[in-house]
Amino acid sequence: MSRPYIAVIGRDESGRFIPIEGRPYHDKEWLEEMYIRQHLSTNVIGEICQVSPTTIRYFINKFKINIRSCNTLNRVVPIKDENWCKRISEAKKGHLAWNKGIPRKAETKKKVSKGLEKFHKNNPNFQRGPNNHRWKGGITPEDIQIRSSKKYIDWRKAVYARDEYVCVKCGDNKGGNLSAHHVLSFRDYPEERFALDNGVTLCVPCHNEVY
Ligand SMILES: [Zn+2]
Repeated sequence: MSRPYIAVIGRDESGRFIPIEGRPYHDKEWLEEMYIRQHLSTNVIGEICQVSPTTIRYFINKFKINIRSCNTLNRVVPIKDENWCKRISEAKKGHLAWNKGIPRKAETKKKVSKGLEKFHKNNPNFQRGPNNHRWKGGITPEDIQIRSSKKYIDWRKAVYARDEYVCVKCGDNKGGNLSAHHVLSFRDYPEERFALDNGVTLCVPCHNEVY
């Protein structure tokens, strides 16, 4: 069945939409064409059909057409087929991004950092474990996972801070040379892994002596 009214929407000399007779909005395909593909708002479609936006919305709901959020109403969205990314990539080749070489302002950095912090708080598993594209199926041993966790890093920092970043055995206080030793071993006393009392600051040579 051909639908002659699926066509470019015309405007008169004063820029107004030329109305369409015959209630085309009763037709799901027409409405989809206008609302989804031509990206017109319910206001504009209403104007074309000489009915209220509410009427248009009623039919959009009736036909179960996906409703857009308000902020996309006026944006022109190109139809993305399988070659879309390729074409854009080709077209953009050699162009410099508008912000290339312009450092972010401190204020902006702060905003971004705050935003990310909030995001990760709300999405604690974002790109972690199976959600990460590099996930190899849980081959990381459990203790390596724990040792790289924030909780563990916090524990180590707390141990260092309590010992004032000095090896308790030899007094070495050179930076970057310290490790936190578990008095009751990490492996055998899982319940003591994060106990501050169970940690002592040792330099690497002294830590090697302990084992
Ligand atoms: Zn030492």
